[in-house]
Amino acid sequence: MSKKNTFSLAIHGGAGVIDKEELSKAERSAIVKDLHASLEAGETVLRNGGSAIEAVCAAVRSLEDSANFNAGKGAVYSRSGKHYLEASVMEGKEHRAGALSNSKHIKNPVDMAKILMERNDIVMLDGEGVDQMAKDYNLPLVENDWFDTPFRAQQWELAKKYAADQTFLDHSNFKKGTVGAVAIDQNGLVAAATSTGGMTNKIDGRIGDTALIGCGTYADNKTCAVSCTGTGEYFIRAVVAATVSHLMEYGGLTFEEAAQKAIDKQADLGGDGGLIAIDSQGKITMPYNSEGMYRGYVTADEKKVYIWNQPE
Ligand code: ASP
Repeated sequence: MSKKNTFSLAIHGGAGVIDKEELSKAERSAIVKDLHASLEAGETVLRNGGSAIEAVCAAVRSLEDSANFNAGKGAVYSRSGKHYLEASVMEGKEHRAGALSNSKHIKNPVDMAKILMERNDIVMLDGEGVDQMAKDYNLPLVENDWFDTPFRAQQWELAKKYAADQTFLDHSNFKKGTVGAVAIDQNGLVAAATSTGGMTNKIDGRIGDTALIGCGTYADNKTCAVSCTGTGEYFIRAVVAATVSHLMEYGGLTFEEAAQKAIDKQADLGGDGGLIAIDSQGKITMPYNSEGMYRGYVTADEKKVYIWNQPE
């Protein structure tokens, strides 16, 4: 896709049991509004001829800044009541990638993932090391309790009652709201970005798929760009994001077949979640095996936001 003025961008705001009865009208419209704002942030970049990398980062940054999603402000609480953030970015031309886990202070983790990608030396940095590097790059840093929100505090209390000393795998619904974006720009470059606070009540130090290139995020100009959301352990074990690309490149599957197969694979292992993907022609697919997935897309002539099957 190299025709001028053609571009596509898709976003997600997490997958899970999104109960129609439980989601109030006010919550629903706030979420839809934020998804639209994220699409607009990415669209502005792409319409002005900007790169897919800038577009996915702009779209994700906008969702990180909203307390309605589990990324940046509004991130979930860990076992010790802290917020540990993860993010990753990848572009499809030179396969550069940047990723981070267990940041306690970076206000917009996607920006740090992008810096790591652009440095093009190490791919992934964890914990204090990544917070220190963000400081060196003068990125905005905040105290860890800046990420606190009453809604996530309440979820954490519920999760603790449910499984105080177990892993979170049996209450995986207390996490919805990981965010991600995939895009193709007017020059045919594809890129993907994902950002999360992880899983509610996660053991401190746990790393999920969002921080792992190939699992939660992947991009290859030959095939597609992918961003995932769901119970990370299954997405890691099924290497979901790269599998979509590899099934296309080496398995001869169509774009839609490959995306569905990768989602089925983690579902077979017991996982739930979804992905958004864009192929090298600008086509979009967004399969999931959870009850719903906050998502949307924009092309040169269309824009839509979904929670369940019908556009909002
Ligand atoms: N994949 C994220 C994690 O496991 C959570 C999510 O997408 O909801 O950390």
